[in-house]
Amino acid sequence: MAILVYIENIEGTFKKSAFEVVSYAKAIADQLSDTVTAISIGQVAEAELTKLGQYGVSKVLDCNQEQLKQFVNKAYASIIAAAAIQEHANVVILSNSFSGKGLAPRLAAKLQAGLADGAISLPSFTANGMEIKKSAFSNKAFATELISSDKKVIALNPNSFELVKSDTQTTISSFSPNLSEQDFNVIVKDIVRATDKISLPEAEIVVSAGRGLKGPENWAMIEELAEVLGAATACSKPVSDAGWRPHSEHVGQTGIVVSPNLYIAIGISGAIQHLAGVSSSKTIVVINKDSEAPFFKVADYGIVGDAFEIVPKLTQAIKALKQQ
Ligand code: FAD
Repeated sequence: MAILVYIENIEGTFKKSAFEVVSYAKAIADQLSDTVTAISIGQVAEAELTKLGQYGVSKVLDCNQEQLKQFVNKAYASIIAAAAIQEHANVVILSNSFSGKGLAPRLAAKLQAGLADGAISLPSFTANGMEIKKSAFSNKAFATELISSDKKVIALNPNSFELVKSDTQTTISSFSPNLSEQDFNVIVKDIVRATDKISLPEAEIVVSAGRGLKGPENWAMIEELAEVLGAATACSKPVSDAGWRPHSEHVGQTGIVVSPNLYIAIGISGAIQHLAGVSSSKTIVVINKDSEAPFFKVADYGIVGDAFEIVPKLTQAIKALKQQ
């Protein structure tokens, strides 16, 4: 038996969330005196696969076929299920990322497994099954789920588990399960990146701005702050509705849910629908000229004042600090 993890890559490179999933799986494996096997799909160099050993993976299954270069939901789910069956894995873990959200339920159905999607902490194993805490209602609540089925699928929320190194001897073997034509009846023909900026759902730092910025012409200072911090940019819903910023930047209940290490909210009031998408950020900094703005109630650090004065000063201060 083993714990199986599905490791996502972007153009052959593992994302931070991949190592989080491995660290999380290793912690569960230690609880169960088990080992961690990883399944990687797509073209990933051996040197990259070997990195998984640093986080506790003892065996890597490398499913590296030309037709799997792009993410194909059905085919990927079939491959992960086949790996789980081959390895007799009762626990399968993946990231609750954009593709993980599509894969996890399909995989649970294939394996007849109980599913915990949006997990945010380690499970505990009791006589009745596995208990696990997850986020619910767009991060406005937590739920504790009890999974009593033999097989379990866990989709871990990005940024909810620390990276933990655990040097382990790793073997890599190729894995080529039989796939059917149906597995490929929906395929991605092409992906054209809209931007080469940092991807918002994956970002560790997000600089976000709202209607307090008055108009799209004032976003240069937000982009400059984001650039010095190596951050992604985001915005509130009215800002994207007005066309000041692209919809891909809209965070909140009806937009993207983010959980970065640092979320800087500038000229955003902190309406409940906005907070639903950002409240699981590790540290929240709010800049708002209204000291009564609701965002301050959930802020770790707050600056009351005019964004047009504060943001350029903050950017200069960070630049100066970086030069030291
Ligand atoms: P405002 O509410 O207008 O706030 C602007 C803020 O900027 C104020 O707090 C003001 O004090 C401050 N400000 C003004 N000038 C300055 C200055 N010079 N310096 C510093 N601060 C300044 N919203 C989302 O964001 N995401 C969602 O997903 C979302 N989903 C929704 C779903 C539903 C069903 C509904 C009904 C609403 C939803 N909304 C969502 C909208 C939400 O209710 C708020 O209207 C919206 O978040 C407000 O955006 P805002 O904070 O940018 O603007």
